[in-house]
Amino acid sequence: MGRLFGTNGVRGVANRELTLELVTRLAASCGSILGKDTAIGRDGRVTSPLFRDAAASGLLSVGCNVHDLGILPTPTLQYAVKHLGLDGGLMITASHNPPEFNGVKVIAAAEWDHVGDVRRTDVLDPYVDSVVSQVDSALIRSKGLRIAIDPGNGVGTLVAPRVAHRLGCGVYTVNAELDGRFPGRQSEPRPDNLGSLRELVKATGADIGVAFDGDADRSIFLDEKGEVLWGDRSFALIAREYMGKHPGARVATAVSSSNAIVDVVEGAGGSIHWTRVGSVDVSRAMVENGIDFGGEENGGVMYGPHHPVRDGSMTMALILGIVAGRGLPLSRLVAELPTYAQAKDKVSCPNEIKQRVLDALRAKVSAPRVETMDGLKLVFPDGSWILVRPSGTEPIFRLYAESATRPNVEKLVSENKRLIEETVKSFSA
Ligand code: MG
Repeated sequence: MGRLFGTNGVRGVANRELTLELVTRLAASCGSILGKDTAIGRDGRVTSPLFRDAAASGLLSVGCNVHDLGILPTPTLQYAVKHLGLDGGLMITASHNPPEFNGVKVIAAAEWDHVGDVRRTDVLDPYVDSVVSQVDSALIRSKGLRIAIDPGNGVGTLVAPRVAHRLGCGVYTVNAELDGRFPGRQSEPRPDNLGSLRELVKATGADIGVAFDGDADRSIFLDEKGEVLWGDRSFALIAREYMGKHPGARVATAVSSSNAIVDVVEGAGGSIHWTRVGSVDVSRAMVENGIDFGGEENGGVMYGPHHPVRDGSMTMALILGIVAGRGLPLSRLVAELPTYAQAKDKVSCPNEIKQRVLDALRAKVSAPRVETMDGLKLVFPDGSWILVRPSGTEPIFRLYAESATRPNVEKLVSENKRLIEETVKSFSA
């Protein structure tokens, strides 16, 4: 059961790894910690109503009042907990995982500025209002931008098109019917499964394309040419805009993030607050240190003035604001950002020897800067770096690396990969 707990709650194949009993027990123990008034939300998966009922039973059994907020994105539930003045919430979702999966994300009320009316149950409207209020909606409306949206049959379909309409955009959609079997594409938005969105951008002449993961806390963007931008490109673009308005600000991000983020933040006199990999770690660092902006390389951007959690629709509104404000195509804006060559890889390693392998590696490697906040990160004088991180859910080490050029980054990965493989072998023998 331990490995069900990843970086963001519990997840597994429904009715096999993730059982009704497990969810009931989890909800009961969460209920005693979260507090009296607890919200439940769910995504559009086939098994979500089943686990909603199991979670409600668990909460009721320990004396909680259950506020069932229906089908909605994870960031909308997080917003609702704050807006309705509740003590916490449980989101039934497996985020971007395949349709046979389900899970529970636990939402603690990190902020105590409780306002609002607990009897109000329509949270979609206030949520959309809040997102729209964070950007210069008059400016965006005046530009008449066109946006192509692919919610991937997930819960983003309930809010993202509404936010875009409110911002005066021409809105085109694909995979915008809520369907828990995710018939349109896999729930994780990736360059290789966004062909329909790319076609839609081209066919409609849209200024921006955007795709969401299953619970709409992450968003991936396409420029007006239909080119998919990696998550750290959109994150860096928003970070640069944010720093322009808040020179010297601190930005929270995980040790796996690109130097492009460092460049735009430090270039504006700001500083990075580094965290372990995982959205919960970044969010917590923001709340605990009074930091108003953070994000991850996977398309999770956290805009504190709205809410210090990942939010795909908020991110979309921020990108629309930047394109409207600068009056330039998205491809041009992204081309202005610093660019690095990146590589990812993995090395198999049994879970039980991961720590010993890491300790041995630490003794073997030499780099001017070695960081051990999360795995092992080696940083070299030219800015190149490689991060070796034990996966929380699989028997592997994940490798992330970045350098100025493609040959450099490939050399960095191949050399270290060999070293890790040798070390794993020496402990497995
Ligand atoms: Mg997600």
